[in-house]
Amino acid sequence: MTDSSSTGLALHWKILIALVAGTVVGITLNPGQVSLPDTESTLSLKADTESDGRTLLLLSDPTGMETLQRRFDTEEEALESYQELTGLPASTTDSISVKVAVTERTVQIVETHADVQITYLRQHDGQVVSTSISAADPAALPLVWRNLNAEYGGGLRRKLTAVARYLGDLFLRLLKMVTVPLILTSLITGIAGLGSSGNFGSMFRRTLTYYLMTSVLAITTGIVMVNIFRPGIGAELPQGTESAEAMSGNSLTGILLGLVDNMIPTNPIQAIANSSFLSIITFSIIFGIFIVRTGGDHAKRLQQLFEAAFEVMMRLTMAIINLAPYGVACFMIYATSSQGLQIFLTLSWYMLTVAAALLFHATVTLPILVRTFARRSPLEFARSMSPALMTAFSTASSNGTLPLTMTSVEQRAGVSNKTSSFVLPLGATINMDGTALYEAVAVLFIAQAYRGDLAIADQVLVAVTALLASVGAAGIPHAGLVMMAIVLQAVNLPLEAQGVIIAVDRVLDMARTTVNVWSDSCGCAIIERTSGAEPAGPAHE
Ligand code: ASP
Repeated sequence: MTDSSSTGLALHWKILIALVAGTVVGITLNPGQVSLPDTESTLSLKADTESDGRTLLLLSDPTGMETLQRRFDTEEEALESYQELTGLPASTTDSISVKVAVTERTVQIVETHADVQITYLRQHDGQVVSTSISAADPAALPLVWRNLNAEYGGGLRRKLTAVARYLGDLFLRLLKMVTVPLILTSLITGIAGLGSSGNFGSMFRRTLTYYLMTSVLAITTGIVMVNIFRPGIGAELPQGTESAEAMSGNSLTGILLGLVDNMIPTNPIQAIANSSFLSIITFSIIFGIFIVRTGGDHAKRLQQLFEAAFEVMMRLTMAIINLAPYGVACFMIYATSSQGLQIFLTLSWYMLTVAAALLFHATVTLPILVRTFARRSPLEFARSMSPALMTAFSTASSNGTLPLTMTSVEQRAGVSNKTSSFVLPLGATINMDGTALYEAVAVLFIAQAYRGDLAIADQVLVAVTALLASVGAAGIPHAGLVMMAIVLQAVNLPLEAQGVIIAVDRVLDMARTTVNVWSDSCGCAIIERTSGAEPAGPAHE
């Protein structure tokens, strides 16, 4: 990899400088949250039985601005809550108005080139409630939201944030452009290069063992930390939110079957067109294996063709990677200028727990594995991987970072293409230590806030579902948050609790994505070494 430019500064330093500069500019630009005066609102309370048999209590004011939803498994639970709210003996068929004090109201408006997102945070009689809404065209927003946008939106700072987001997205588009051809050519070249020596099967087994082992270790770390810090005890979580993002129709069996389905594409070309990683991986592996089996002239020609295509893709990727400092700076400006500071304070214990657990996994557990099984210096290895790690941090997308991870592992950390082309694309799809850990901590945090500490059996259930949810999560921003619905469902917790967590998800997503990419990279070094290869030194030094 061409690691220095005419200025002589190594790429990872440039990215680091961009990261810091982007953060400083973003914090300076932050338009922040606007505080609104306290008010009182009359909400009408309605009860409804949903198609899944659950009872929905819906409170709303005539403008549709103050909306609160609570879902209950049984009618008795709904009745209890109803009586608590109204102070009246009631049946769920009653409809009644309740006056609530609406305090601590803040609004945060973030514009991007694609849409405008408004987050309205307030307390209803002391309960924190968050509602987010977004629309591509502000004119399409419901009237009250449109008025909020007209009054508090716009301004130079928001425009600059939008421009930063746009430019950051352009960089991500370039990376995504090369991802599919890179996986395809790299994997076919790698597998065909393994030849008929038969070590593919053992590499596959070792890789899966590594993924499973590290994800379980990550989840265990998360669960231990959340039981030590207990961030959810006493935390006030919303009883309801309107955010559609918090809803997910996935069930556990659904995810598993979906994964298996995905592994066998009915149409490989369509899979390539849809960037369906798992399908592309299986097809490339099978294609590579059959190149070897076919042998002779045909095999030789195809192997040469894919090798040539792979070389060109690597060159192209490296050219794009030189733009990483600009992309990273833009993403950092967007991330830091679009988050309000107040929410960070509300959830500081929760964020601290996630951060501490991620840090432990990344700086203690994984380095011990690298030292023991790959027999190389974890620090040196991390240095080699720094361009990829910093890009993962700023973009919050392991898929987007994949081209950088591949080039860093091969060109800077000296791992062979045979290993990296197999371990990394598969890892970006199914090995997400950071996400698994995050799911476990977030769900136990919510559980603590609603019910106090969970029993051991429930914690084990959270661990298993968190593992599956992380396998099913795509390597894109916020995928972990969407998949969390499955874990919440498994232990019967309200999906509405995600309302406040969404507000701080971006920054935690950045951290867990870095751990996801770091774990995949460590896996490469370990699997390379346990396949009998000599330990490689970083190629850039
Ligand atoms: N953003 C993460 C990734 O790309 C997935 C997640 O949301 O946890 O690896």
